[in-house]
Amino acid sequence: MDYISTRGSAPALDFAGATLAGLASDGGLYVPRTWPKFSQDEIAAMAGLPYAELAQKIMLPFVEGSLSAERLLELTRAAYGRFAHAAVTPLKQLDQQQWLLELFHGPTLAFKDVALQLLGLLFEEFLARSEQNLTIVGATSGDTGSAAIDAVAGRAKIDIFMLHPRGRVSDVQRRQMTTVLAPNVHNIAIEGSFDDAQAMVKRMFNDNGMTDRFAIGAVNSINWARLMAQVVYYFAAALQLGAPQRKVAFSVPTGNFGDVFAGYVAAQMGLPIERLIVATNVNDILHRALSTGDYSQGTVTPTAAPSMDIQVSSNFERLLFDVGGRDGKALAEQMAGFEATKAMQLTNAQREGAAALFSSARADADDMNRAIRWAFVECGETIDPHTAIGLHAARVAGIAADIPVVTLATAHPAKFTDAVEHATGIRPTLPTRVGDLFEREERLTALPGDYDAVADYVSAHATPRP
Ligand SMILES: *Cc1c(COP(=O)(O)O)cnc(C)c1O
Repeated sequence: MDYISTRGSAPALDFAGATLAGLASDGGLYVPRTWPKFSQDEIAAMAGLPYAELAQKIMLPFVEGSLSAERLLELTRAAYGRFAHAAVTPLKQLDQQQWLLELFHGPTLAFKDVALQLLGLLFEEFLARSEQNLTIVGATSGDTGSAAIDAVAGRAKIDIFMLHPRGRVSDVQRRQMTTVLAPNVHNIAIEGSFDDAQAMVKRMFNDNGMTDRFAIGAVNSINWARLMAQVVYYFAAALQLGAPQRKVAFSVPTGNFGDVFAGYVAAQMGLPIERLIVATNVNDILHRALSTGDYSQGTVTPTAAPSMDIQVSSNFERLLFDVGGRDGKALAEQMAGFEATKAMQLTNAQREGAAALFSSARADADDMNRAIRWAFVECGETIDPHTAIGLHAARVAGIAADIPVVTLATAHPAKFTDAVEHATGIRPTLPTRVGDLFEREERLTALPGDYDAVADYVSAHATPRP
């Protein structure tokens, strides 16, 4: 399988190359040249497989040429062996129609672990075959940072520089990053929003002065390997609910459009998906884009669901590319226009292509609190603010009553204790596996919201190319 850029001019790479590169050199994102397809019989035969084996089957067509089937299975077993639940992503019934897919049983309590535990192993595997070191530069609205740091802390030939918006991540989220004292981990708190941090990271990927000296890699969901790993749990959930004979809908708390794009990929591979519901909070650029075609950046409003406080959703570009006829040159122009004016209109082809599978809904703070209370009172489940936004959207989406609706439970409620206590009156407790998080020493560097300050810091601490 090889990978092409959404902006049409970067060289095609194999899976190992795309994994190490992250962003394409033309500023685009890598996507597989074609979507692998499973027949309905092949999908039916996957029912009942242990998670690591299902993961190997789904991902094998994407890694061909870079990993053998046997090696891939070793890696999926190692990655998912660290989860605290034997089912890895267990499915829970809420009522006759609504289900929760619990994606937070990994080491850092958010769904990011599902992809990043594997990505850490893939980096190590591919770096061991080469001369190079990898300088990972990432921006986090909270959960990516801790999951990425856990996945690469102490690994050879990798340094990680993780930017988070100062004061805009929860205490648990911050401590999960800053208490990892491995020498290859560099936490940077910057002044500004997550979008500011993400813009600096994107700029660094396009800064030849940096990319000539350092092999810069990505752990954000611009990295294709992350999305690939997330495709697996759509299959896992749907198979349990009767796929491929029965269709399933998914509601996805969305920020950077990575998680829900993985659902789109599952559908392209043959999984019968009724609908993908894009759930946003008041930072609703995606809801506006999907409902009216207007993709224009607003200002970020901080909410109780910080991992969704995003106004530019990187992975939306992958969808626009695919449903817009895979025309890299046209998309490069469209994206250049967006970068210049912070606004763009979807083309008719993009709107219609997206509408065929995606719906969207926006939840404000009241909607979110009501959903947390509903789950708590009616179903005995404590859910986090992000999951609650997904659940709200799932319940208002108007999906036919005989179609199960699965909300992706993206974080453990104890990552967001204040918001959950506010809605339920009860403070969720951290699972024992996170240990003495609040006693441990923290280490971080505070920098101004200034690209040069960040670039200088990375230059001073990263390992240059050989
Ligand atoms: C990252 C994250 C999201 C958003 O996922 P995207 O792939 O960026 O759309 C939602 N909820 C939680 C808890 C997250 O950590």
